[in-house]
Amino acid sequence: MARVLAVANQKGGVAKTTTVASLGAALSELGQRVLLVDLDPQACLTFSLGFDPEDLDSSAYQVLLGSARLPEVVVQCEEGPDLVPATIQLATAEVKLAGETGREHVLRTALRPVAPAYDWIIVDCPPTLGLLTIAGLSTATDVLIPLQCETLAHRGVGQLLDTIHDVKRLTNPGLRVLGVLPTLYDGRTNHARVVLDTISESYGLSVLAPAIPKSIRFAEAPAVGRSILSTASRSAGADAYRKVAAGLL
Ligand code: ADP
Ligand code: MG
Repeated sequence: MARVLAVANQKGGVAKTTTVASLGAALSELGQRVLLVDLDPQACLTFSLGFDPEDLDSSAYQVLLGSARLPEVVVQCEEGPDLVPATIQLATAEVKLAGETGREHVLRTALRPVAPAYDWIIVDCPPTLGLLTIAGLSTATDVLIPLQCETLAHRGVGQLLDTIHDVKRLTNPGLRVLGVLPTLYDGRTNHARVVLDTISESYGLSVLAPAIPKSIRFAEAPAVGRSILSTASRSAGADAYRKVAAGLL
């Protein structure tokens, strides 16, 4: 049965999407069968893996609303993983689902038939703590929190942990916090290291290693529809994600 990893942080720009694409590619390289799920209406993951959301007839939206089955919307990425894409329609999913019983479980229900076909299902959560993120957390076996190594990036982590706590209490008692993944890490600055130490102390969370270095190579990858594992295969950034992926196994 697949392990389901939710990559969540309600702050934008902390490398959630980059982490999902890169870990997905790295786990594929390791021979794992991987499904990625784009739960962000901005569809950055979908776009960065080479699919134009505007060309797609159906997406995670139809799956969550129950008007399509998951295998009908899955697309194959060149790097290996399968993808449940997002379109901007997802922006209305929370309102549409608001009155439904068991709405936290729509993703879990949709994934159930396909989960045995994968080793890993990685969910790219949107930058909110709304229903889509709750649905992602309610489905997950593990949650990974990417965190930018800057002082202000700490704000909001407490709120995220409160949400995770509520999800554990109400919908998904088995959810494990895998830990924080330090991203956009500039190891030349003392500041970044101090920030890291404070995180593990104040929240009692494990910090995954290695930290993902800050590199312009990450900005280049989405433009060609691949992750950094293809576009800069031997870079320090690709290498760091490979090590994190190996650590997950
Ligand atoms: P989120 O999904 O949390 O909003 P993204 O993965 O979209 O974050 O990343 C935000 C921006 O930061 C993107 O432009 C991405 O290319 C860039 N980025 C991600 N990781 C790194 C990194 N390690 N070094 C430099 N830029 C990065
Ligand atoms: Mg994102």
